[in-house]
Amino acid sequence: MMALKVALAGIGKIARDQHIPAITASPDWELAATVSRHATVDGVESHDDFGAMLEARPDIGVVSLCMPPVPRFDYARAAIAAGRHVMLEKPPGATVSECHALEAMARAAGVSIYATWHSREAAMVATAKAWLEGKRLESLIVTWKEDVRKWHPGQTWIWQAGGLGVFDPGINALSIVTEILADPIHLTASELFIPENCETPIAATLAFAHPHGAQVSAEFDFRKEGDQFWNIAIRTDQGSLVLSEGGATLEIDGVSQTDAAGDALKGEYPRLYARMANLVRAGGVDMDLAPMAHVADAFLLGKRITVEPFVE
Ligand code: NAP
Repeated sequence: MMALKVALAGIGKIARDQHIPAITASPDWELAATVSRHATVDGVESHDDFGAMLEARPDIGVVSLCMPPVPRFDYARAAIAAGRHVMLEKPPGATVSECHALEAMARAAGVSIYATWHSREAAMVATAKAWLEGKRLESLIVTWKEDVRKWHPGQTWIWQAGGLGVFDPGINALSIVTEILADPIHLTASELFIPENCETPIAATLAFAHPHGAQVSAEFDFRKEGDQFWNIAIRTDQGSLVLSEGGATLEIDGVSQTDAAGDALKGEYPRLYARMANLVRAGGVDMDLAPMAHVADAFLLGKRITVEPFVE
């Protein structure tokens, strides 16, 4: 099968760490161009203007958008208007409504659009989901605590409205939760801890209602030094599981289910690009906004608590 030509726009940390290696390793894809206001990628045609790239390269059928969420909508709209298929980094946009609008535009234009959730593709998420099937949930506790200085150095957009603050990683946890739970949950309470010099939270707590009364809660914190936690601990009527390292490792009833050592996260982006190739070839749309709805709810219902300024 012919490789699909893709243009990658927003050449920052995630484009370099994950997208470029996943695209170049896949026979499904050819990295035909990049678009960045500042960066270039060796050996790949570079553009600094997205509209000019769309005009110059009508043969590139797919664009993959890796810039932060606030500027992403204008790029996605331009791509759809130019008849291109669109792959969106998470979160798929800055607001729920703009994501609905993009989906409607893509359907009207007859192009594919994919709101990716890379953590859903972590190595042990599917195994955890399969194990949970048919069991009665008693509790689910998310602990997502990382050092923002280590993982997001210099990313000032994360502290500006629409950048999500600690929900930038936190939404990854919610993408796993909404993937593995059979029943829908909804937010009942939230606290948002916002540094006095920032527009977005540095930490948050969330509590959810579950249709069978299970206790579901989450704690996100960007201020964690030392050990880092990306864990989801679940108890059911038939045993318990812990997904850790963002879904890369799994323990069921205290027994590790993960045998492979090494970089357990490395399959995430190859799986996202494999799914995008299938969507483009089959003419599909995948725009699941469930994780974003929970974040929007936390911002709607959340109690704001001002905390000390954040200095990088
Ligand atoms: P980043 O390195 O700060 O930024 C990505 C690129 O976006 C920048 O290099 C910049 O490229 C472009 N950009 C920034 N502001 C822009 C604007 N106003 N208009 C147009 N382009 C702009 O961020 P990142 O970590 O790669 O994250 C980008 C997205 O990927 C976020 O939605 C994030 O949630 C997601 N993500 C990140 C990670 C991670 O580990 N970092 C993991 C998974 C997903 P130019 O200035 O060169 O144009």
